[in-house]
Amino acid sequence: MPPIVVMTGGGIKGAVAAARCAEDNELLLVHVNYGQPSAPAELKAVNILTKTFPSSCVMALTLPHVMQLQEGPGRSVEQRFGINEGVGEGGPSAPALRGLIPVLMSVGVQCAWRVGASTMVTGVSRLCEASHLGMSGVDAPGYGWHELVHSFNLMVECLSGRGPQLRVETPLMDLGLPQMIKLARRFRIPLERTWTCEQAGPRACGCCERCTARARAFIEAALVDPLSTPAPAPV
Ligand SMILES: [Zn+2]
Repeated sequence: MPPIVVMTGGGIKGAVAAARCAEDNELLLVHVNYGQPSAPAELKAVNILTKTFPSSCVMALTLPHVMQLQEGPGRSVEQRFGINEGVGEGGPSAPALRGLIPVLMSVGVQCAWRVGASTMVTGVSRLCEASHLGMSGVDAPGYGWHELVHSFNLMVECLSGRGPQLRVETPLMDLGLPQMIKLARRFRIPLERTWTCEQAGPRACGCCERCTARARAFIEAALVDPLSTPAPAPV
């Protein structure tokens, strides 16, 4: 029986998304390296996740074109269009990152078609992603994300033709990180082995945007992050 494809960056969202469909299904956990410094730490966390979900395996992919775009459009293009490094909200890598979610969803869909899966799951959350992308204003948090996924499914349906039908599911779309942390505890996910930090490690930096959001979410969930708890001294 084909697996369910789960996109994961080794963090809490991907682990909870996987747990929600792991009971009766084999999982293909897909990690994508798009040039983020944390990629090796993320992949390590994804591999550890296979111990939590024995009926799972990992596919690790790289997206060289996104890595290239994160470095900037290139000197000749910058000169031709008068682009200055650092111009634009969020710095030079922001445009590449804004386009990343549909790219990752497309990668997941391609993986799913490749293995004959009928479901591709991503842990995308309108509440988390909107703030991560710096969206604000009267429509925040996360206006339009349901429509984005619906549109994406229409595209997938169109491209499936007469082949097997595939559906993209986003079970965490309306959940915030504190709710996901509570779910992770219920699913007995080893939160101390998840990776959230934007940096490469080996320990979470504790001060980047994602580390800060994680710390805030644990406080809101009234739980202690096992990552922030020093390991007990050997007896
Ligand atoms: Zn960090």
